Amino acid sequence: MARAKTLRTLHDMPVVKGFRPLSMRANYRQAVILKLEEYEVLRLIDYEQKIHEEVAEMMDVSRPTVTRIYNSARSKISTALVEGRSFLIEGGDVRMVRHYYQCEDCLHRVNLPVDEEKPLVCIACGSTKIISLSDCFVRGCRHCRRCR
Ligand SMILES: [Zn+2]
Ligand SMILES: [Zn+2]
Repeated sequence: MARAKTLRTLHDMPVVKGFRPLSMRANYRQAVILKLEEYEVLRLIDYEQKIHEEVAEMMDVSRPTVTRIYNSARSKISTALVEGRSFLIEGGDVRMVRHYYQCEDCLHRVNLPVDEEKPLVCIACGSTKIISLSDCFVRGCRHCRRCR
């Protein structure tokens, strides 16, 4: 199957949309924006302790690209930390392995093969308020409960 070389394969979605400093109101205008591939590289290298070669293979990119994304991610996180800025995880050149949905009422999450339709009701609580996490994280929705 042909696909654009620039897309980085993503194996999971972040738990939260972003972080904000204690004692400060959220200010998304000044928020540092961490791209999804930057989040994924931090997750794989710093959290799961994988080596760069392995991460490159998982994300379908070269090893120098992984290093470049990793450096950029660390620079952004340290900027947020040092300058006391909130940050959002959003956007990026990514291809999802599966599609992720979340119930707005009970926060139950499901992931489905990419060719399946969005579920109509939550299997945990029956709510019909199902949102696509791809829309929220990849395109940036700014109106679901994760974004407020
Ligand atoms: Zn639910
Ligand atoms: Zn959202």
